[in-house]
Amino acid sequence: MNIAAKNISVAAEAAAILEKLGVDKALYTQGDMPSYSPVTGEKIGNLKTVSAAEAAERIEKADAAYRAWRLVPAPKRGELVRLLGEELRAAKDDLGRLVSIEAGKIRSEGLGEVQEMIDICDFAVGLSRQLYGLTIATERPGHRMMETWHPLGVVGIISAFNFPVAVWSWNAALALICGDSIVWKPSEKTPLTALASQAILDRALARFGDAPEGLSQLLIGDRAIGEVLVDHPKVPLVSATGSTRMGRDVGPRLAKRFARAILELGGNNAGIVCPSADLDMALRAIAFGAMGTAGQRCTTLRRLFVHKSVYDQLVPRLKKAYQSVSVGDPLQSSALVGPLIDKAAFDGMQKAIAEAKSHGGSVTGGERVDVGHADGFYVKPALVEMSKQAGPVFEETFAPILYVMPYDDFDAVLEDHNAVAAGLSSSIFTRDMQESERFLAADGSDCGIANVNIGTSGAEIGGAFGGEKETGGGRESGSDAWRAYMRRATNTVNYSKALPLAQGVSFDIE
Ligand code: NAD
Repeated sequence: MNIAAKNISVAAEAAAILEKLGVDKALYTQGDMPSYSPVTGEKIGNLKTVSAAEAAERIEKADAAYRAWRLVPAPKRGELVRLLGEELRAAKDDLGRLVSIEAGKIRSEGLGEVQEMIDICDFAVGLSRQLYGLTIATERPGHRMMETWHPLGVVGIISAFNFPVAVWSWNAALALICGDSIVWKPSEKTPLTALASQAILDRALARFGDAPEGLSQLLIGDRAIGEVLVDHPKVPLVSATGSTRMGRDVGPRLAKRFARAILELGGNNAGIVCPSADLDMALRAIAFGAMGTAGQRCTTLRRLFVHKSVYDQLVPRLKKAYQSVSVGDPLQSSALVGPLIDKAAFDGMQKAIAEAKSHGGSVTGGERVDVGHADGFYVKPALVEMSKQAGPVFEETFAPILYVMPYDDFDAVLEDHNAVAAGLSSSIFTRDMQESERFLAADGSDCGIANVNIGTSGAEIGGAFGGEKETGGGRESGSDAWRAYMRRATNTVNYSKALPLAQGVSFDIE
């Protein structure tokens, strides 16, 4: 479907996609929670929300489903996720387009988000045959010690607007193969893509046939509904993605009831460009990392340290890229930068730019761009030259602002690099092996993601994703992140005729 050719509204196109994917129309037309497209500012839905009591009921249903699902062999559980991957492949164009409509992503990034969902499904299918535990040498004769990994329970998923569906899939695919049920509270800014994803999973469930009812639940609502999930005693793990402000509330609440938390919070990511860097490569990586997704990725490049010896070669070229980058309607143009999510994001950006100026910052870009949609908030990405880190540089402003600062001492720049509260992603551009290895060493970058000669954003699903410090410490997606979704039992089996106690303890009762 091509809205330019058919000249239909964004709302009509969203409705057509939802209908095609089999979403019940009443769910997004007869409710009281409005949803808007950042592309035009148009209202695209009136969502039916769940009450706190309904949310609790759905959690109970998911708990009942878990009790049956945990007994299904893991490779068979993998079959459901394989079918989900197939359904996502079939729906890729439609769901990708809906991501663009609802989150404002450019076309290739909307599609890329769905590709990421497909990738994690493939990964999880393989993993469903690899949920290994260890066998461990015991100190007692005639004994065997081993680990068994068991399903955990209901996994709560809270997601942010900027990856409206990929984050759900990272958690859902792993949780489902691990034998857990899932309850998802998507961002109130992107509920339509959540309805669509649930409908796609429903198709996979129908083809699978005998999965327990209620295995996957959706809670449309605001933060209060998220709180029901966080506080519910039958949810042993909540994976929450969003701002550090949200994590500061959610983390202690989960800790209070001894539930597990995977916290995936804000980032304030930096790059370092060293004297030996390939500047052409660095330029492209910086441009994508800082301006891509209109600066609305948790891994967006926000701080750039450039060695004094290459500053005058790199920064003027970077400024030129900022001035010439295409900003526009992601549905009707091939622009590289789409809209900000809403007015609050625009206001936050302008406030940070004003503060940066008051700290001596020199600004290129940052102004609003008229793309013909009065209610859409489009901006030229901003490059702000600063002499050093100050004021807003220490904060994550969820908009395309790149603070650029010169450096001359490698040890000092590593300290500056790590001197912010968040610890998500980082990168260094260098051909000097001593610098790159040092950046990756124990006294190098303190982030969960540390890259060499690629940007801070655009992670693959194969690695564990997450960050340290105020990013929350959670890990999801690849590597061994699955372990958080299961409970580990250590089993010691005595096949001897004696009962030796560990550590040589004797306790003879006669
Ligand atoms: P947000 O914190 O406003 O909302 C995120 C989600 O949390 C929403 O679903 C919201 O309803 C819910 N929520 C908020 N307060 C809650 C509470 N007290 N209890 C339960 N639920 C609550 O974030 P946002 O504006 O949607 O997203 C942008 C932020 O998310 C940025 O800070 C970005 O860096 C971060 N983010 C992090 C990652 C990561 O993996 N580290 C990924 C994407 C986005």
